Amino acid sequence: MKPKSAQETIKLIKSRLQNVKFKIPVISGKGGVGKSMVSASLSLYLAKMGHKVAILDADIHGPSIPNMLGVKGRMIYGVDGIIPLSASNGVKVVSSAFLLPDERTPIIWRGPLKSNLILQLLEEVHWGHLDFLIVDLPPGTGDEALSIAQFIPDVTGDVIVTIPSQISWSVVKKAIEFSHTLNMRILGVVENMAWVKCPKCGEKIWIFGDSLQNLVEEEGIKYLGSIPLDPNLSSACDKGQLHFILEDTDYLQVMKPIVDNILASFEP
Ligand code: ADP
Repeated sequence: MKPKSAQETIKLIKSRLQNVKFKIPVISGKGGVGKSMVSASLSLYLAKMGHKVAILDADIHGPSIPNMLGVKGRMIYGVDGIIPLSASNGVKVVSSAFLLPDERTPIIWRGPLKSNLILQLLEEVHWGHLDFLIVDLPPGTGDEALSIAQFIPDVTGDVIVTIPSQISWSVVKKAIEFSHTLNMRILGVVENMAWVKCPKCGEKIWIFGDSLQNLVEEEGIKYLGSIPLDPNLSSACDKGQLHFILEDTDYLQVMKPIVDNILASFEP
């Protein structure tokens, strides 16, 4: 069979995503900064607000979204295409993890094959009507992230996740350039694992030094907010119970300005 041209792939993906209002890739300059945790939290929070939400875990090497959301299983083919699995608050979940025999199996293919796997999911998943599709892109600004991001049509804008260290700032600048290269609007930057709450006085202790807020705003980019380094968060992710933490008032207070700032970007 003749391989599909890029144009054909774009056309197929576009028709699959025609009933999705907002498509938001979440990116990071490098791994381990909490991109997946932020993607999952955004999805759960938006769904809790009553929006119809799906998350595509496009982080092929470390597909951690199913773990964080406590979803296990296999995607199956329905009449209209692949059916996503369902997490708390009705969030639809699609991940390469659902295609592997078990969690120990790594995907050891070369770049183009891995990107093709995600493109195939984009071509074949039946998303239905959605308000938001959150895409957890592979970490970094290399080939894989690029080849997936450029096939998502009419991206609303991306969210960049970082930790607030000076080293990370140079990596954020790469993520900004990445977005510009793709003509992708940047909805803003989230600082994760930014501070801890002092158990005695409740003050914020910024563990990596000052917030990057000023530097972000000097680039003309919106600063969406900061998330603390919180052992409850990491254990909730490990146990597949991230949805429980969204019942916690402290975490709701942290996520609310971030989501409000994202939603404010869509207003005319
Ligand atoms: P990335 O997608 O950038 O590689 P992850 O979202 O997988 O990073 O997060 C890496 C690890 O850090 C995970 O174990 C996650 O549970 C944990 N983590 C992420 N953000 C926080 C946080 N704010 N507080 C505590 N642990 C966090």
